[in-house]
Amino acid sequence: MTLPVLKIAGKRPYPPRVSEFTRTFWQGLSDGRFLSTRCAACAMRSFPPKPFCPHCWSGRIEWAPLAPQGTVYSSTVMHAVPAYFRHEAPYRVGIVDLDDRLRIATRLLGVEQGFAVGARAEIVVLAYEDGPLFAARVIA
Ligand SMILES: [Zn+2]
Repeated sequence: MTLPVLKIAGKRPYPPRVSEFTRTFWQGLSDGRFLSTRCAACAMRSFPPKPFCPHCWSGRIEWAPLAPQGTVYSSTVMHAVPAYFRHEAPYRVGIVDLDDRLRIATRLLGVEQGFAVGARAEIVVLAYEDGPLFAARVIA
């Protein structure tokens, strides 16, 4: 499943630091895929990607796509923000429970018409001119 892509003018205000390990995640996001790590020993998933399993401490991990949809667990509006994001404030962030049973914190889009906790959301790629970020967009 390929993620929806939203073209964003300009560069990322605070670009992520890409390591040899996280390059797979960022390249996947550029290709419209939402990847993370899964433990080859106990099959538990984790996000953000980790080079070891936080459940059983195995170092045998593999990359696998995550279900790119979930349910909004909580959200808030950010008014006091770091200087890098001041031009974007106020903006909404939220905690989303992915259908793969992972809980992630991310920017929340698609809330201009209002929404309720428990709304469905999907992961989208924010395609900035210098690379991707991701966010969750409320869809129902
Ligand atoms: Zn494990």
